[in-house]
Formats: sequence, C-alpha cells, structure tokens
Amino acid sequence: MNNTVDFELLSIVAPAFNEEDVIQAFYERTCRVLEKLDLASEIVFINDGSTDRTLEILLKLKKEDSRISIVDLSRNFGKEIALTAGLDHAKGCVAIPIDVDLQDPPELIQDMIVEWRKGYDVVYATRNQRHGENWLKKTTAQLFYRLMRVIGGRAAIPENTGDFRLMNRKALDAFQKMRERHRFLKGLFSVIGFKQTSVVYDRDPRFAGTTKWNYWRLWNLSIEGITSFTTAPLKAATYFGLLVAVLSLSLAVWTIYKTVVYGDPVAGYPSLMTAVLFLGSIQLIALGIIGEYLGRIFNETKQRPLYYLQDVFESNPNSREPINLSTNSDRLDRSS
Ligand code: UDP
Ligand code: MG
Repeated sequence: MNNTVDFELLSIVAPAFNEEDVIQAFYERTCRVLEKLDLASEIVFINDGSTDRTLEILLKLKKEDSRISIVDLSRNFGKEIALTAGLDHAKGCVAIPIDVDLQDPPELIQDMIVEWRKGYDVVYATRNQRHGENWLKKTTAQLFYRLMRVIGGRAAIPENTGDFRLMNRKALDAFQKMRERHRFLKGLFSVIGFKQTSVVYDRDPRFAGTTKWNYWRLWNLSIEGITSFTTAPLKAATYFGLLVAVLSLSLAVWTIYKTVVYGDPVAGYPSLMTAVLFLGSIQLIALGIIGEYLGRIFNETKQRPLYYLQDVFESNPNSREPINLSTNSDRLDRSS
C-alpha cells in the first residue's frame, strides 16, 4: 500500500485484462479530459495478467507520459482484485476507478470533480441507459438490485451503479481497511457510507474487444454479492423451516381428525412422496447455502495476500518529462 498521499492529485485507476485494442483510445480520450481539469493527475493502469500486448502498449505509453503508473499483477486475479491493487497504489487525494473499454465515459470525470469540490466524499455514476446490452442482462441486473435492496438493509447498493465513482482519501482509506478475499466491490463501496451523491450518464457499448463476463460469471458474482453482504439467506432457511413445520403440524392434526371422525383409510402415497422430495430438496438447498458461507469463512481464515505483484512502475505526476523506466520501477514492493 502506498504511504505518500498527494493532496492535489487525481488518480485514475483502470484495470486492464487483454485490452490491447482499447488502451490507446482510452488513454487519448482520458487525457483530453484530464487536460481540462485544474488538478494534477496520474493514471494507474493495472495489468491483470493479460496474455495479449496490453502490457507492452502500457509500457510504451508510460515511456512518453510519466503520469502513468503500471501495476503488473503476477496473473489474472479478476477485476475486483485488480481494482483493489490499483487503488492501493493510487497516490492521489481522490481516486476514480474506471473501465478501459470506454463503457464508463471519461468525460464524466469533470462532473464528478465538480460534485467533489462541493464537499462530497463519494460521487458515484448512475447509468441512465444500458446501450448494447440485451434485455436479459438488463432484467437480470434489475432483479439483482431489487433483491439486494430488500435483503441488503441499511447499506443498500444504489441501483444501476458500477465501480465507476470518485472517492476522496477518507473514503479510500475506509475502503482499504476491508481486506476480505471475497470482494464484492459495489457492496464494499456502500458499506463505508460518508457523504455520497451521484451523477447520471448513458452507458455506451464496449469500444472494442469483448466482455469478460458471461452469465455464469454474473451468477457467481451475484452469489458473491449476496453472501459477502448479508446473512439473510441463512435466516431465510430457518424461517422457511419454521413455516413448513407449522404447515405439516396442521396437516398432521387434520389427518388425525379425519381418521378418528370419518375413519378414513390411510391413503396418500403421492402426497407423501411430494412432501418427502420437497423437504429433501429444501434441506439440500439450505445445506448448500451454509456451504457457501462456510467456504468463504475457510478462504478468509487463510489470510492469504489479495494479489501478487510482478512489477510496479510508479508514476511521477509532478513531472511531465519522459522518465527512465529502469530507475522508476519498484521491484521490491510485494506487500499485501
Ligand atoms: N477486467 C480485469 N480483469 C478481469 C476482467 C476484466 O481487469 O479478469 C477489466 C477489463 O479490462 C475492463 C473492466 O475490468 O477494463 C471491465 O471488464 P468488462 O468490460 O469485461 O466487464 P463489463 O463491462 O462487461 O461488466
Ligand atoms: Mg465493459
């Protein structure tokens, strides 16, 4: 983690995994925005174990622009961890995580800065429309947010927000205190609280390349979100058990009554089967839920580092001159 904080510096934090087609366009568009700000800036790129020319392009950019720093991870860790590594290396008094695929318009940074200057600690970007996403993705996303609002309680996640947001040092420090392995960033961002506001934008389709998300990964992310954010499913199993217990007790009373008063012969193989199978499956589901939590406890107790660094090439935000890469790389930093 960095220990020097620059008090008039903006850190743009951009994770990149196999993004050779977009990096250049992202860099140029972001630079045009940064030029207009009355604030010094750095761009922290995270190379999340890319197998294409991403790192090569980043190193080339860095040679020409000393505001760039590159955090090169030892393998692919996933966006959540990559972003965390980038935020750990951000030196600014404000940081803005942003996707390099230009789905988060860099122009919004200006609006975020305006809100930040008004005294907000966190300015998150809310999507107005989701261009280039089909109805299935839109509906499932909507359902997920609704579910999270119902079970999430006080630290509810604002709807239609991603990781694209501005955080000041106070919020960033609070965020960095949470070192859990299972990272559902949107949840962690809303756990910290502070003075928050939002700016609205239209989400564009990907500039180039393909998304690394498929429905299976999104499903897993949703499970991650729910289990790392709330223990409500564990309670749900209890209450459902109670409900079924009450129902079956009433059924038992009714059956006894029927047998005693009407002398009904005991029949009911189908209903018996249904009840047994139903309860069996509910028990398995409940066990599975417990297993999800147990597995997470197991992973957290190992206390492994969140990521490993292959290399760090630090930025030098105060000088715009090209700087020598070899003197500027910090090969020793392999912490957290
Ligand atoms: N990303 C990453 N590691 C991964 C997957 C994605 O660093 O394992 C980065 C990716 O390069 C991009 C951002 O995270 O900058 C968002 O990824 P993507 O566009 O695939 O996700 P989507 O926008 O579809 O949610
Ligand atoms: Mg994207």
